[in-house]
Amino acid sequence: MTAHRISVPPTAGLALRWSDLRPWGDARLDRALAAWLGVDDVLLECSGTSALTLALRTLRQLAPDRCEVVVPAYTCPLVALAVAQCGLQLRLCDLSPDALDMDSSPLHALISHRTLAVVPTHLGGRVADVASVLPRAQACGAYVIEDAAQALGASVQGRSVGLQGDIALFSLAVGKGLSTYEGGVLLARDPALMAVLRAQHQQSIRPHLGWELRRSLELLGYAAAFRPALLDLVYGAPLRRSLARGAWVEAAGDDFDSHIPQHSLGAWRQRVGLRALARLRTHWAHAHQQAQRRIAQLRALPGLEVLGDTAPQAQGIWPVILLRLPSAAQRDALMRAHWASGWGLSLPFSHILPDYARYAPLLGDAVHDPVPQARDWAQRLLAISNSAWLSDALFAQLLDALKQTRPPSAAG
Ligand SMILES: *Cc1c(COP(=O)(O)O)cnc(C)c1O
Repeated sequence: MTAHRISVPPTAGLALRWSDLRPWGDARLDRALAAWLGVDDVLLECSGTSALTLALRTLRQLAPDRCEVVVPAYTCPLVALAVAQCGLQLRLCDLSPDALDMDSSPLHALISHRTLAVVPTHLGGRVADVASVLPRAQACGAYVIEDAAQALGASVQGRSVGLQGDIALFSLAVGKGLSTYEGGVLLARDPALMAVLRAQHQQSIRPHLGWELRRSLELLGYAAAFRPALLDLVYGAPLRRSLARGAWVEAAGDDFDSHIPQHSLGAWRQRVGLRALARLRTHWAHAHQQAQRRIAQLRALPGLEVLGDTAPQAQGIWPVILLRLPSAAQRDALMRAHWASGWGLSLPFSHILPDYARYAPLLGDAVHDPVPQARDWAQRLLAISNSAWLSDALFAQLLDALKQTRPPSAAG
């Protein structure tokens, strides 16, 4: 097998410019993001996970007799880590057969007077139907936290995602669009709830020089290395090493540290993020156009399913194009052959939460929650990078490979 040089990142992250890195200027990324999102106020945290942890701790104080958090069974393992770290009990909701949203009938069964929060999730930039979750959650007195970690810039009915539920979090981690290397954004629709979150933030979040120094160096490294010529060194080579060992969890980037740092986001990284934010709309507009062109080509192939937004009147963002293959065997064969072919293929997550040996112990009794549809999704889903560095020529090679991927009945 020939080794391909990889020049395409797994998602369409916004590249930094040297001029973003100037150490002076406006450092209030929170104000800039609030204006950008069309809200009064946001809180900046050191990661999306840290934002979720802060939200859960705050809600726990408001509703101390509620201890369960309902999340989709197919989501980022960091969500499970945050819930477990807060001493709360996860409940896993199965997915709908035709979207990455939580399925409504198991969701109704899971939400009860024990539910602290329900976490509808906008995966891969696709907009989940939060409105359909609200009535049941409200009837039971449960909070709704929109996990928009992968959806900064997506909107529904003309407003940012994150404003239908009670609380929302966005991630500023590498690969999620706008990046301060690590970072998170937290907001609440209701000013009174926002004030409680802010009080909790002021009480518990402190600067941490060591973490800030480390993240600042990582952000510098990212700014330097996030270019086609260097990606093979920083992303391609580690990916090939993981794949050579058959370590798909690692290759998918799902091997997270169980320690969740909590500290403030430093002024320099805020400046960098603030300058890059000025280009984010244009970045997503270009990504949208490229995605629409490529989706039309993908939809012409039989048996493949391209995921769209679930919510009505939604305009998601396109860091990746999500594709469901006819079978797990075909998905695995394609990934085995082409994960490292330089076409920007990846897995959003390698497993549903109970199927990771490392994270299953966090789930407690939730390992028994029945989630067959979610498992089926996890086995048949893949992501195609929507980076502009995936050229039309490379994408044409990928289309050719996908054409060989036929439903078993048509393989004849
Ligand atoms: C990345 C991610 C998170 C956590 O965000 P970090 O900023 O990486 O801590 C939470 N939920 C989802 C769906 C994610 O993809």
